Order: sequence, then structure tokens, then C-alpha cells
Amino acid sequence: MSLWRPQDKCGLFAVYGYSGPGNAALITYQGLLALQHRGQESAGMAFNNSNGQIKYIKGMGLVDHVFPRDMLYSIEANTIIGHVRYSTTGSSLAVNAQPLVARSIDQIGIALAHNGNLTNTRRLHDKLLNEGQIFHTTSDTEILLSYLFRFKRQGLVRAVQKTMAIVEGAYSAVILSKNQLVAFRDPNGFRPLVLGSLGKAFIFASETAALDMVGATFIREVEPGEIVSAGPEGLTSIKMPARAKSSLCIFEYVYFSRPDSEINGKSVYEVRKQIGSLLAISVEAELDMIIPSPDSGVTAAIGLAESLKLPLEWAIHRNPYLGRTFIEPTQSERETGVRLKFNPVEKLIKGKRVAVVDDSLVRGTTARVLADLLKKAGAAEVHLCIASPPYRYPCYYGIDIPAAGDLAAMEPAFNCLAESIGVDSITFAKLSDLYNAVGIKQDRLCSACFTGVYPDLGKIRGKVS
Ligand code: SF4
Repeated sequence: MSLWRPQDKCGLFAVYGYSGPGNAALITYQGLLALQHRGQESAGMAFNNSNGQIKYIKGMGLVDHVFPRDMLYSIEANTIIGHVRYSTTGSSLAVNAQPLVARSIDQIGIALAHNGNLTNTRRLHDKLLNEGQIFHTTSDTEILLSYLFRFKRQGLVRAVQKTMAIVEGAYSAVILSKNQLVAFRDPNGFRPLVLGSLGKAFIFASETAALDMVGATFIREVEPGEIVSAGPEGLTSIKMPARAKSSLCIFEYVYFSRPDSEINGKSVYEVRKQIGSLLAISVEAELDMIIPSPDSGVTAAIGLAESLKLPLEWAIHRNPYLGRTFIEPTQSERETGVRLKFNPVEKLIKGKRVAVVDDSLVRGTTARVLADLLKKAGAAEVHLCIASPPYRYPCYYGIDIPAAGDLAAMEPAFNCLAESIGVDSITFAKLSDLYNAVGIKQDRLCSACFTGVYPDLGKIRGKVS
């Protein structure tokens, strides 16, 4: 079932020089499983064989589908990069699955895994086409790979530096060559990337939870604009301080990252709970009970219930066996899908004034169906509390947000939003609540999908079209 939610476009996991129990492929597999929430459409790994030739295994589907256990044990490499991908429907193609690989005739080459989205793709694509390049994918990652491959004779780190001077937008990435693994992050650091160690091996991952899953120790974040190389000489790092200025995606805290991850030393769980607590100040309705929207509203609901000193009840059961099985093309089919997924616990709800908490409101499909289910189950009042401000602007940095006409919070519908969703009131968190909960200066965060102010574009762009 596809309940449309904002989708991140990928997760990365890479291991350099692993020689402990199991093998590097098993470690990468576990790391990718931990990052599955960041992309469910395809998964892949790339590595060198004993002749130094780049090999890859990738396919459509979830990590455990793409990598049967027998296959993992047959991979002997001790250095591997891995990727899970989400894309918009039109480009959900096997050919776009990552890592992407570029090889010379002797099969020696590089492999790249990328989380983010370039913002000067069109210009660079046309330029490369004019220069005679043939593209094999419809992914912006191929542009990144093309420049890296062009420059690789100058050394991998130099190739990354030269490529970073050309590409714009969001990229946390790892690149593998015959004997080197390089991780790099765009100067705005839109997407997270962390460094850890596992015995003598180095690990790079999109989130700290993936380090935890493989038993690795967190060392530090890869900084915005930083290039970290793991090779025979150990770890080296180069920074591009002249350009670097953090604009971390605030939505990593609100929704994308796992609650058991930490970003910039801040627990994602605690941030979400804190947003829920701060939301309490804005809630005007008299309530008897707080109900989390399964499972996206749980942490914020805990914070809200604690602050309001109200009972928190799991009054909506979610069928855990209905996964992402198909994409319904129409709103009514989507709503049918949601109804199949949820069922309220009638005895808890009857006659009660309840607030349902969710992390975000995008199309409003889930909220609309939950409100209807709760009212039919006898709730006296149903209020909606959203732990983020209304989405109003597109994301150019690797998050898929639907067109304006599909956004519940777009004007002019906003004034009658509660009525159109079928609830008695809606309370959104303020952007200042998010900043306070995250505890990072607001000029070091991206919140463009709420404000229309884009960190690297320097101006207000139009609303979603
Ligand atoms: S526009 Fe929104 S979703 Fe995109 S990077 Fe900025 S805060 Fe994140």
C-alpha cells in the first residue's frame, strides 16, 4: 500500500578494510537493512574482485530480496559500498539502481553511491550531451559519476575536489576505486553522513543507527564540504571551508531519519518528543486522550501527552503485514488502502475528545481516513496535531514532495482544511518549535519546504507547481 509520504531518495553504507567475523558483504547487508527506511525501491553493492576489477550486484526491491544469504558469503571483498534507493515513480528503473559503475575496458574503474539531488542537473546534462556523452540512466548521479571518472587519473580525492567545483545541490556520497574509498558531502551538508570504525575497518553511513546495527563505533560526522579518504595510508581529510556552510535538512530530524539515530550529536527521538511537547502550547481544544498516528506520530505524541498530562493510547491498530505493495493512482483508491491498514479500538474512543498526532501533513489522505474511522467509532471530537509546519514549497535537495494541487496545506484550501479533512481542529507545530527542539542555529538548517527560502539558491522560489 502506498500512503504518500515525503520520500528520501537514498541511504548509503560503506565499509573499508573489514577483516572481522563474517565478511564485509554481510556487514554491508546489515547496514543497508538498517537504512531500508531511506529507500525501498532498489538496493545494491559494489566492490573490487581479486583482480581489482569493479563488480556490482543490484536489483529492484528490498535489501533482503536483492541479496540472498548465499550470495553474501560468495563476496570476498573487504571493501564495499552499498546503497538503498527511493525515486519518483517515473524513474523507478533497474538501470538507475545504485551504486553506478564506470569502468575502463580492463574493468578497472569506480563505483558511486549518492544520497541527494543535484540542482544544476539540466545544464550539466546538456553540456555533457554536447560533448558527446551517452547517458545510460535517467539519474542525476550519472552526472556526478561522469565528472569523477573524467578526473580520476588525477587521483580520486582530486577528482572529487574538481567535481565538487562543478556540481551544485545536495550530495552525500561514497566512491570506490581499486584501492581507495572516498566519502564526500556537499558544502551545505543537506544530507547526513557519518564515519565510524569496526575493529580496524572504517564505516561510512547515512545514519548512526546503521553503525549501531553492525556494532561499529561512531567517530564523527563527515563535515559539510569535507572529503574523507580511506586507503592503504589510513584516513585523510580535506575540507572546502571557503564554500562550506551547513544547511542540514531539518526534515531529517522531523521524519526521515530513524528515531534511534543521532545527527550533530542530537537524538532524533528527543527532537521529535520535544516538538510534541512544544506543540502543546498551541493546542486550544479540551482533550481526553492523545493517539499517535501509527507509526509516524508516536514520538511526538509521547511529548504532547506528557506536556498536556493526558493519557496516551494506541487506539488505532495498524496492520503490520500490509507493506508497500502497490501504488494507487487515485485519491479514492488511496483512501481504500488506508482503511485496509488501520482499525480503531472502539471501546477506548467512544465518547472521548481525542487528538491524533502525526509528524507531517502532506496529501492528508491518512488524516482524512483516520478522522472518519475515529468518528464512526464514536469519538465525541477528533482534533489533529501535526508536529511540523505546513508544506508549501518544493524540495530540490533529494526529497520527493508532491505537486501543489496534492498538498493539503496549500492555499486557498488551507482556511477550511479542518473541515475538508473532517476534524474539529488542526494544530501545526511552529517552525520556531522545530528550531528550538533541534537546538541548531536556524541559519545552519534548511527549512525551505516550509519557508521557500533556499540555502544555496539565495532567493525565494515559487511554490510547488
Ligand atoms: S527543502 Fe525541506 S525536505 Fe528539502 S532539504 Fe530543505 S528542509 Fe529538507
